[in-house]
Amino acid sequence: MTEQTHHNPEVLNRLASAFSVLPNPNKATPEDRESKTDKPAFGQVFSDSMVRMTWHKESGWSHGQVEPYGPLHLDPAAAVLHYAQEVFEGLKAYHREDGSIWLFRPDANAERFKESARRLSLPELSTDDFLGAVAALVQQDAQWVPTRREYTLYLRPFMYASEPFLGVRAPHQVDFCVIASPSGPYFSGGVKPVSIWVENRWFRTGPGGTGFAKCGGNYAASLVGENRGSEHGCEQVCFVDAATGTYLEELGGMNMFIVHRDGSLETPSLTGTILPGVTRRSLIQLAQDAGHEVRESMIRLDDLLEDIRSGEVTEVFACGTAAIVTPIKCFKSEAFDVTVADGESGSLTMQLRNQLLGIQLGEVTDLHNWMWKVC
Ligand SMILES: *Cc1c(COP(=O)(O)O)cnc(C)c1O
Repeated sequence: MTEQTHHNPEVLNRLASAFSVLPNPNKATPEDRESKTDKPAFGQVFSDSMVRMTWHKESGWSHGQVEPYGPLHLDPAAAVLHYAQEVFEGLKAYHREDGSIWLFRPDANAERFKESARRLSLPELSTDDFLGAVAALVQQDAQWVPTRREYTLYLRPFMYASEPFLGVRAPHQVDFCVIASPSGPYFSGGVKPVSIWVENRWFRTGPGGTGFAKCGGNYAASLVGENRGSEHGCEQVCFVDAATGTYLEELGGMNMFIVHRDGSLETPSLTGTILPGVTRRSLIQLAQDAGHEVRESMIRLDDLLEDIRSGEVTEVFACGTAAIVTPIKCFKSEAFDVTVADGESGSLTMQLRNQLLGIQLGEVTDLHNWMWKVC
């Protein structure tokens, strides 16, 4: 067994201290804050502060600042409003019984943020600045991290071309912000298997596109498919590859795993059209640690449907930061309606979910040193 080493909290402290703090003079009152962090709906409530940093082509990144949360000043000609040069990240701050606050693999989000930025010709933000920005905001608004189990402070770093210019080129001015939103479990009422619409008309991305980048444009492109799914009574939509329409890719904002009868797992390989999820990567590791074989492969939709019908595939689940692990109940389209096993949450699905959540909450040993203490 490898010896456990922890990320030294001094590292995040030092990176956070590079950000100056302008406290919010109109902070929420303790009562207001408590009511907002008690049982928040996803993405509707925001903390007192935000981080801002600006980049200019000549001078690079400015000094970063934590400042009062509030509307942005944006020129109507700002490039992002016309050409959508925007990338984002999503991660959570977790409260522990002893009052400490932790992040899960924020270094992986920092790395992915750089990859996304490169794809959209946006400047890279260094890992140190990304970690410092997130830690500085969490430290300043620590009281906004909900204390209820499975409730978290969802952090949303994002970057966009703010330069007022209608010409099409890599921007000369870019803004980076981090905002924070207290949030409860993604699905209120506990883990319930979801129904999936398999979308075969509209694709979220294609070969050589932006599928591997976490950018708003991918989500904009996914909405017509999402609408078709809800018109057919499904809770989530699964996209297939645009080139052939035959391979499984991912949901609008979650990766997917299949569990076979022999206990092995399979997940679509990262072909460039799939977002490389931090949850996906972590679950591959946890499943392998527990002795399960994990294959990353091109999964044909037809094979999956046949394997579900025959009982060869016993569980299917989706995964991502927001919902952690979500069991999948059935797949539907105009041509089929197939239920996975008995339509209940699979046992390996729940085991992996509980283990990952346990690590995030400090209840399960963090063998891979994924947790970073903020304060
Ligand atoms: C963010 C995202 C995921 C999940 O990634 P995590 O790092 O696990 O949160 C999956 N698919 C898409 C399209 C995403 O944007």
